[in-house]
Amino acid sequence: MLAPGLETIACNLCGSRSTKLVFTTKDYRFLVDDRDFSVVRCTGCGLVYVNPRPDERDIHRYYNNEFYNADESPAKALASVKDRILGMAAHLDRYPKGRLLDIGCYRGEFIYHMNELGWDAHGIEFSSRPPNLFGQSIFYGDIANAPFAEQSFDVVTIWAVFEHVYDPRHVLKQAHRLLRPGGTLIILVPNYNSLPARFMYHDDVPRHVTMFTPKTLGQLLEQEGFTAKSWECGQDVYGGSTRGWLNFLVKRLAGEPMGDIQAQNRSVERWHEFSRCIAGKERPIMKKIDDFDIWLAPRLDRLLDRLMLGFIMTVHSQKRVAP
Ligand SMILES: [Zn+2]
Repeated sequence: MLAPGLETIACNLCGSRSTKLVFTTKDYRFLVDDRDFSVVRCTGCGLVYVNPRPDERDIHRYYNNEFYNADESPAKALASVKDRILGMAAHLDRYPKGRLLDIGCYRGEFIYHMNELGWDAHGIEFSSRPPNLFGQSIFYGDIANAPFAEQSFDVVTIWAVFEHVYDPRHVLKQAHRLLRPGGTLIILVPNYNSLPARFMYHDDVPRHVTMFTPKTLGQLLEQEGFTAKSWECGQDVYGGSTRGWLNFLVKRLAGEPMGDIQAQNRSVERWHEFSRCIAGKERPIMKKIDDFDIWLAPRLDRLLDRLMLGFIMTVHSQKRVAP
């Protein structure tokens, strides 16, 4: 019997219901509740996802105001995501300016920036909770109901959103419908084939419901009429993903349970810093380890990125003219 608010689902990539447990975890970031979530791997195709997961009514509880930073002023909002937006915009430098659709556009910062640069940018946001801070053209709701003409966009972007989406295949179908033939789809997602995702359980469960690899995302794109053109694993949009790796390693060697490490490191205050506790005691040596880690992380990231083992991957793909 499933607890209320949970649903079990079939694999979004191959439809199979046969899975193997990979790990269990809790919402250590916002501590909304104490529920254990199972992350499973499809035995048919290898897709990794949360199952059972909160159903679509219940998942909203896990997106609180802290997640949306709903109270920030426009200036503060823009400043807080400036580097990220510049990193995203750099991905579009290689394309001529045209009509752009950003799926999961949050508070509209990116489309505001792109409109300033001369693009004709629009957005879709699944939740009506993030405020439209810059008065942009944003449709709130299911992408299937958005009032945009078919084949009317040159580029569609999905930045750090696809891992949150409940039906990734549906979103790709809709992106395909809205893109002109030959148009570009850019998706940035966490890479499950990475040190932070595999060993440090870096994914933000239960908000991240699907954990893609280049293989599983590539297959989904191919099936929905897209040809992948380039895969990149740079941490230019979300930097420093291996930060905390040494801290993690030392605690594991000291016998600290996985759940305790996650609980220490992933609470809101410690999202970007790491706990100095081992077995509940403050250890000065952990401060030194963290200092070294700050130096080490960008170097390790660059190495892993070259091997396509970085935590963040970005794929540029093209809508095929023929099916
Ligand atoms: Zn599958």
